[in-house]
Parts: sequence; C-alpha cells; structure tokens
Amino acid sequence: MGTKAEFGPYFLSPHFSAQILPLLENKGFNANPEDILGIMVKIADEANGKINSDRSVEKPLTERDLGLLKEGYEKSVEVLVEAGVDPSSIVSTPIRGAHPGGTAAIGKVVDSNLETKIKGLFIADTSVIPQAPGRPPILTVTALAKRLAQIIEERTEIETKSPLTA
Ligand SMILES: Cc1cc2nc3c(=O)[nH]c(=O)nc-3n(C[C@H](O)[C@H](O)[C@H](O)COP(=O)(O)OP(=O)(O)OC[C@H]3O[C@@H](n4cnc5c(N)ncnc54)[C@H](O)[C@@H]3O)c2cc1C
Repeated sequence: MGTKAEFGPYFLSPHFSAQILPLLENKGFNANPEDILGIMVKIADEANGKINSDRSVEKPLTERDLGLLKEGYEKSVEVLVEAGVDPSSIVSTPIRGAHPGGTAAIGKVVDSNLETKIKGLFIADTSVIPQAPGRPPILTVTALAKRLAQIIEERTEIETKSPLTA
C-alpha cells in the first residue's frame, strides 16, 4: 500500500525497481528487495520529441524537465532520510520514459472530435493528448474511448436518419 504526494508539475509515489539492487551493490550495500524503500518521481514533461519514419524516437529532456526531476529527486531524498534511510545508501536509477503520448495531438493531427483530416478516420489513445498531464493516463484514455464511441453513435444516427440515405 502506498500514497502519492503531489507537487504541481511532478509527483512522488512509492516504487520498486530491480535496477536498485545492483546500484546498491556497487555502493557496498547487500540489500534484500524487501529492505528497499523506493520513490518514483514522475514529471509532466514538455511536449517535444518525435517519431521518425524509421520508427526511431527522439525525446530530448528540456532544461525545465531536468529541473523538475532534480527538484523531485531532492524532495525524495528528504522523505527517505526522514523515514530513517541512511543517506549514503540512496541511489538513483537512470531516467526512464513512461506513458508516451502526444504524437497525434488534438489541434495538430486530430480535431476536437478526434477525427483526422481523413473523414471517418479517428484516433482515441494517448497519442492525442497534447500535453503530458504528469499523471497516469489510463482514465483519460478510457474517457477518450467513451467520447469517441458517443461521437460515432451520434454521427451514425444522423447519417441513418438523413433523407438522403433513407
Ligand atoms: C508497465 C506499465 C505500467 C503502467 N501503469 C499505469 C498505471 O498504473 N496507471 C495508468 O494510468 N497508466 C499506466 N500505464 C500506462 C498505460 O498503460 C498506457 O498509457 C495506456 O495503456 C496507453 O493506451 P493506448 O491505447 O494509447 O496504447 P496501448 O494500451 O498500448 O494500446 C495500443 C494497442 O494497439 C495494439 N497495436 C499496436 N500496433 C498495432 C497494429 N499495427 N495493428 C493492430 N494493433 C496494434 C497493441 O497491441 C495494443 O493493444 C502503464 C504502462 C506500463 C507499460
């Protein structure tokens, strides 16, 4: 069980990563996984980056992103030390990307009805979220899917009731 703490554009939540074990070993600590107290820093990063035609992904971190990660790291150290963790045993895993999105953003690739320039071709997944919410996206994805279902239903009703198709 755990709780998360919100700090505006980033939040901290309990997290375990197997990557922590070798990092601790390098520092001379032989810890069991159940002895580890881990915190994840999740930021709302800036909307940059792209997917290239060869399927490679570019996602450079901006100065603001790095600043937020640093702030979150420092706040995590504060929390861990307060919880009784030996400061010399604190390690940090490499920065990882999660919850990718924004590659077909509303306002750029799709309109507010989630439709592309090709009539009848819709997108309803994390790719349409224009700005990272900095929070887990699954509820937003579910809401987008429900919204699109409603749009398609309404449109189908209009088309089937139209005198031209009757
Ligand atoms: C380890 C992990 C933990 C996570 N934990 C959380 C969490 O706790 N809370 C939260 O809110 N979010 C969490 N997420 C994020 C969340 O799961 C994703 O952001 C979300 O599922 C994205 O939804 P999506 O519809 O955009 O993409 P996906 O869920 O990835 O759906 C894309 C679908 O398209 C299919 N597909 C791909 N290519 C093709 C193709 N060519 N033809 C046909 N089908 C194709 C795939 O098989 C897949 O089913 C987590 C993600 C991971 C990886």
